[in-house]
Amino acid sequence: MQIKTDIPNSWAEPWKIKTVEHIRLPNKNERKIALEDAGWNTFLLKSEDVFIDLLTDSGTNAMSDRQWAAIMTGDEAYAGSRDYYKLEEVVRRVYGFKHLIPTHQGRGAEHLLSQLLISSGDVVPGNMYFTTTKFHQEYAGGTFVDVIIDEAQDPTSTHPFKGNIDIDKLAAVIDEHGADKIPYISYETNVNMAGGQPVSLENIREVHSLCAQHGIKLMLDATRAVENSYFIKCREPGCQEKTIAEILWEICSYMDGCTMSGKKDGIVNIGGFLAVNDDSLAQQARNLVVAFEGLHTYGGMAGRDMAALAVGIEESIEYNYIYARVEQVGYLGRKLAEFGVPVVVPFGGHAIYLDINRILSHIPQAQFPAQRFAGELYLEGGIRAMERGIVSAGRDKQGRNIFPSLELVRLTIPRRVYTQSHLDVVSESVARVCQRADSIGGLEIIYEPSHLRFFQARFSPI
Ligand SMILES: *Cc1c(COP(=O)(O)O)cnc(C)c1O
Repeated sequence: MQIKTDIPNSWAEPWKIKTVEHIRLPNKNERKIALEDAGWNTFLLKSEDVFIDLLTDSGTNAMSDRQWAAIMTGDEAYAGSRDYYKLEEVVRRVYGFKHLIPTHQGRGAEHLLSQLLISSGDVVPGNMYFTTTKFHQEYAGGTFVDVIIDEAQDPTSTHPFKGNIDIDKLAAVIDEHGADKIPYISYETNVNMAGGQPVSLENIREVHSLCAQHGIKLMLDATRAVENSYFIKCREPGCQEKTIAEILWEICSYMDGCTMSGKKDGIVNIGGFLAVNDDSLAQQARNLVVAFEGLHTYGGMAGRDMAALAVGIEESIEYNYIYARVEQVGYLGRKLAEFGVPVVVPFGGHAIYLDINRILSHIPQAQFPAQRFAGELYLEGGIRAMERGIVSAGRDKQGRNIFPSLELVRLTIPRRVYTQSHLDVVSESVARVCQRADSIGGLEIIYEPSHLRFFQARFSPI
């Protein structure tokens, strides 16, 4: 017997499969027709025409048997549901904020927060924009200002915390506009648009002390704070011995409140919340939530949804869960890198981002190269991805296209849904599209909605 000496230490999911959902790969001609019907926008494809769906990790999670059990015992009372109080208890214990205002999803919370704190002419600094977050800040009359570190714009930089806020940039914004024009700092964890890149505890402390000097609030976009906590545990000096729960708690301890999409870290299909420490702000939010979402003890969620989210939050901070979650994303990243596909490094916590500036360098950005690549990937293997480049960046207040430095396609991994074999197939399809990159052209826009255009715009090949 000859056993190799370097036996690897592979990871495995801390769960097994109890129910399966059938998926089907449409044939080549069906895919061609489906993509044309969808105007080359993967958001407009029908789910049943998709084989492997990496559009988003939002609400696409597989719930556990414990969550499904909680669904069955959900209390559907209009007011004062038992599951509201359960969720409040979990949010207080895990995230540490005093007041919970449930919303139907993250943007519901962003809407409330923006309406309550932002006045016309205000400036809201943040570590790279997120589409709905920025929309609500500007809808309330504010202007978003990006204060992320420069490394975030460089897909090849291996900085371990590319989501960090640049303290000098932030100080300059405070100097220029004055603290009274800055209602709060919008602080995102595992910055989505930068490639799922984390922020460090050290950065949070520095931002906190600068803001404390000026009396500026810090509001956390906690959507992926658990995934961020995992990266802190792995990468930040002195944090290896801390639990995920301790790190998450510490992140939140520097914040005045948070908006949260339960559809991501919360491992549910719908739900979110606003959580704040200030009593008077909470009172105002409870007042506003009844107009837009629902009564303050359900805010757009069914009782069963709140029950599932409460269990999902508890599961999300288990080390074995978050380890498998983030390492699965890394598995896809390594596969692609082995094929020579240019991807954003370090690998993100929820997605791998293809660097389209390097893959389709012959297509001008005004011809939507990442949008085109996403369409080609669907044609190739029935795989659905998402553009995160010029289409997502949209237009400025004067109506001009914004040209972001990153032109990316995002392959987003839903939680607990796909196996490594699915990801093998994905990596092979991506590599095959890259192989024929030279023969791929651009797109032109044939319909453009007035805001958040990436959701519904239609395109045609040039
Ligand atoms: C998804 C997301 C949101 C919005 O949450 P929804 O539940 O989709 O409304 C806000 N911020 C970030 C970083 C997100 O990824």
